[in-house]
Amino acid sequence: MAIIGIDLGTTNSLISVYRDGGVQLLPNDLRQYMTPSCVSLLEDGSLAVGAAAKARLISHPEQTAASFKTWMGTERELSLCGRALLPHEMSALVLKKLLQGAQAALGEPVEEAVISVPAYFNDNQRCATKLAAQLAGVPVKRLINEPSAAALYHSYITGQTEAKLMIIDFGGGTLDVSVVDCFEHIIEIVAIAGNNHLGGNDIDRAIAAHFCQQTGLDWEGLPPDHQARVLELAETAKIKLSHDPAGACMLILELKDTAHSLSLNAPALRHICQPIFEQVREVISRAVKDSGIPLSDVDDVVLVGGSSQLGVFVDYLEELFSKRPTLADSPEHIVALGVGLCVGIKQRAEELQDLVMTDVCPFSLGIATYTTQQDTNPHMATLIPRSTILPARRAERFVTTSPNQRHIKLEVYQGENYYAADNLKLGEITVSVPPDAPGAQGVIVTFAYDINGILAVAAEASGGDKKSAVILNPKLNLSEAELQQVLEKFDALRLQSQVGEADQLLLARAEALFAQLTGRYREEAGYLIQQFAAAIQSGSLIQLNRARKVMEEKLNALEAFAQMDIFDLYTDENEEEEECRP
Ligand code: ADP
Ligand code: MG
Repeated sequence: MAIIGIDLGTTNSLISVYRDGGVQLLPNDLRQYMTPSCVSLLEDGSLAVGAAAKARLISHPEQTAASFKTWMGTERELSLCGRALLPHEMSALVLKKLLQGAQAALGEPVEEAVISVPAYFNDNQRCATKLAAQLAGVPVKRLINEPSAAALYHSYITGQTEAKLMIIDFGGGTLDVSVVDCFEHIIEIVAIAGNNHLGGNDIDRAIAAHFCQQTGLDWEGLPPDHQARVLELAETAKIKLSHDPAGACMLILELKDTAHSLSLNAPALRHICQPIFEQVREVISRAVKDSGIPLSDVDDVVLVGGSSQLGVFVDYLEELFSKRPTLADSPEHIVALGVGLCVGIKQRAEELQDLVMTDVCPFSLGIATYTTQQDTNPHMATLIPRSTILPARRAERFVTTSPNQRHIKLEVYQGENYYAADNLKLGEITVSVPPDAPGAQGVIVTFAYDINGILAVAAEASGGDKKSAVILNPKLNLSEAELQQVLEKFDALRLQSQVGEADQLLLARAEALFAQLTGRYREEAGYLIQQFAAAIQSGSLIQLNRARKVMEEKLNALEAFAQMDIFDLYTDENEEEEECRP
């Protein structure tokens, strides 16, 4: 029985384990470490998850869902072809797929998982993540903040044992900035700040908006599949520019008979991204303020997450800090690798014995307090302020406000707002007190918040009444019947389709090409789909194997054509001409 680590990302998810004295990433059934966090409903009613689903984002936008982690912990229903699923239910489908892959790769069942979450996630979002894992069939006792995982791995491989680091994780949909203090083998997270609605997706949208503006298209007026195509063009251009910062990149959208095109280079991209970078700056500033550490005392700024690879982003930060930040070794894998280390520590691997990790409370915890008897809008008295190092234990005394008051109700809240009602209510307990003058009787309230995100509240009233409760989000206390209901909804959606995963991906790639290309290339993609579907239906393994080979070759060629930049085409031709010269 194995314990696995999961980086459940907005865009991509990864699995890690601690084996033979080191962290390893586990490949999925397509032999890739990154599985897109995408779900798509196929025509036969079965579900595609991962790359096959991502490929359908363009051709079947209505049947496909992505970026649902952004809504984790909310009641926002996401539609898959008219079927409504909650964000944690979508996540459960991704987790189920990841688990299948992990079990196949390990050759043994998975007994428990450690999952990373954005540092900024509140209790609702954390509970929804645990619930997703429960639905996927694996218990999760420990969540770890993504930047903590990144810091842990960074300090482990660089051996930077005494340093103050700022970790900036810029992913597809979230930004997390944390300040960590490494001393010998202790890693202490001093402060965190974040924005869980800011990431590479926003850059894609900004490029898409610029493209429409420049080419006279009306974004709002574009049908969803055209919008998806523009977004894909934007992402491809962005990634291309991060590999070739001095180059230029062409975005071409063919609609009916007209080709809409735009050339993009790094300075233009920098200009487009400026408003997004300003938002990043604000989060960094908040983290620095919270940490109480002067910026000059931060030894290194470490960049992680897919979007950190963007050259103009690194340039922006270099100007901001007057110093070049360090791009982590494998910025897209580092969180998963850190979670893997955490698994190692949990399994008490001998070589990790010296490694200890502390964490901080990502939000403030307190009690609703009334100042007078007439007070109708209580404020929140904070017992454990945000960024307190965990585990934390704090006690405070509260007194009665009215004459002969018999009970004191303690409502537990989480959040940063002044009025309790503007924060998230976690639960309540009530103690009785002897009748007396206002303020004469009281209660000592103790909060204990542990590293696993469990809050225990104890109350001891002056008359001797004692109560205590472990405050768990009510969401986690699903009744058997409720759990059954969700599981049934899942059963109706078959995860495994008759078509094998790899074949499904081939078909999805061809369909995406069909949607993207025009003229004879589109016809060719359509022909490929027909032929391959026929080969699958034939039931002959030999025929299918032959068809797979042909399909793979033709798809590669068509994809190369679809992705080709006309500038490249031009250079390639030039080079060929040169070679021909005597
Ligand atoms: P998440 O943690 O949100 O799942 P990742 O860390 O995997 O996300 O980052 C995904 C984001 O990184 C996407 O928006 C993707 O477009 C972007 N990305 C991936 N590679 C590059 C690159 N070379 N340059 C710029 N952005 C990139
Ligand atoms: Mg991530």
